[in-house]
Amino acid sequence: MSQDTPRPPRMTTTAGAPIASNQHSETAGDRGPVLMQDYQLLEKLAHQNRERIPERVVHAKGWGAFGTFTVTQDITQYSCASIFGAVGKTTPMLARFSTVAGEMGAADHERDVRGFALKFYTDEGNWDLVGNNTPVFFVRDPLKFPDFIHTQKRHPRTNLRSPTAMWDFWGQVPESLHQVTILMSDRGLPQDPTFMDGFGSHTYSFWNKDGERFWVKFHFKTRQGHRFYTNGQAAEIIGHTREGYQEALFGKIERGEFPRWTMYVQIMPELDAEKTPYDPFDLTKVWPHADYPLIEVGEFELNRNADNYFAQIEQAAFSPSNKVRGIGYSPDKMLQARVFSYADAHRYRLGTHYEHLPVNAPKCPVHHYHKDGQMNFFGQVTGSTDAYYEPNSRGGAVEDPSFAEPPLRLSGVAARQPHRQLIDDYEQPRALHDRVLNDEERGRLYKNIAAAMEGADEDVIERALVHFDCISPAYGAGIRAARAEKAAKAVAAE
Ligand code: NDP
Repeated sequence: MSQDTPRPPRMTTTAGAPIASNQHSETAGDRGPVLMQDYQLLEKLAHQNRERIPERVVHAKGWGAFGTFTVTQDITQYSCASIFGAVGKTTPMLARFSTVAGEMGAADHERDVRGFALKFYTDEGNWDLVGNNTPVFFVRDPLKFPDFIHTQKRHPRTNLRSPTAMWDFWGQVPESLHQVTILMSDRGLPQDPTFMDGFGSHTYSFWNKDGERFWVKFHFKTRQGHRFYTNGQAAEIIGHTREGYQEALFGKIERGEFPRWTMYVQIMPELDAEKTPYDPFDLTKVWPHADYPLIEVGEFELNRNADNYFAQIEQAAFSPSNKVRGIGYSPDKMLQARVFSYADAHRYRLGTHYEHLPVNAPKCPVHHYHKDGQMNFFGQVTGSTDAYYEPNSRGGAVEDPSFAEPPLRLSGVAARQPHRQLIDDYEQPRALHDRVLNDEERGRLYKNIAAAMEGADEDVIERALVHFDCISPAYGAGIRAARAEKAAKAVAAE
């Protein structure tokens, strides 16, 4: 070591005692056996066994980075959220993008919906927006969420993913075909996470300082433009690297090429919800732009990579339950269920006190009365030593009614509502297919669907095709033609 190279720090046990050797186990004689008292050896092996935590059941493979959100337009007439308090105000944030179905080791360039999860460390608490790169989802009722996810995961016997299961489900749940259309279109395989839009997807609510409520949809438009790969191009890339998204996002930020997105909202006055021809709280529907135009709010830039992927991206816990003053939920059934299930997934995956891990911890003061539990490393945060219950007269933290959300009027009978008979699930995918996509995009859509149907049983394919016919006769016919072309090519290749 040269004289000016700083001496590295001394290695210690986790209890802080300096370690004399990290190269040789302690043995009886030079041929062994090893001694039970070599605690450092036991500690290393025991730690290694515990290096993995349960992977997320969905969105296991992800890529993330830190950044900054900046307000560019005043929307204080809609929301009193502190994050939107003044034009130019900045808030630190974290983004994690992901695929949905693949496990931790899955290839990045697979056709799949991409998770688009954002955590804003606002000065009035953390606000998480846990969305996707699509404005809609496959199901509108959370009772069907576990069933849907099972179709995306492995068959219990073959341990392979099953096209039959996917198309069997989709063919019997026609509200899913809007999302299926987006997934099978060019937007279902972005070149990397910087080339896709993000959506809050659910309907949320805003309220302003006068207590007026508005329903709101969040949109994040990529400033990098949309770029996609075809299935063939992606297969070639996966042959070279399974980590293309991590390489792209990490590499761009390391090079100072910071990706940016513009945040927009669609705003619906509270009582409009009773007038729209579609249910504005249905997660399988968008609000047409012509009815509710995009209003610019701000922009975010990702400009800092994590120092440690596990601590800051794998342990990042995003949950729609994290909301702040001025931003609320809506009657959206899927959102209501995710408010429970996301926080619960993190309790299971990371432990009871996951919110206190540095990446999840708010950057504003935190005071609560939760007590003890596994891995409590922060002690008591009630604000006073003797105040470990509430109410107390010992100086513990107290509620602040000025943060209360305005009351929401609800009506209707409590029942399991048969929504599928009442709702037109074909109109919005029809608008996308017939009006938004051009001929070339439609051609690739048909081919992608034909490819995704490969290996599925014919009866489930036929049932699904009937629904594509209902969306648009040209849609069903296009898929049939693509399937016939694929079959003819396979025969010719034999
Ligand atoms: P508009 O004609 O005003 O806008 C069309 C929208 O479709 C744009 O947001 C466009 O995104 C987006 N788009 C383009 N290609 C694709 C694709 N392959 N997959 C998904 N979205 C795509 O439409 P309307 O508001 O009247 O809605 C018509 C249809 O457009 C909807 O039924 C829905 O399927 C789709 N759509 C609507 C959105 C909305 O919030 N209203 C959002 C996204 C899709 P971009 O501007 O980035 O090109």
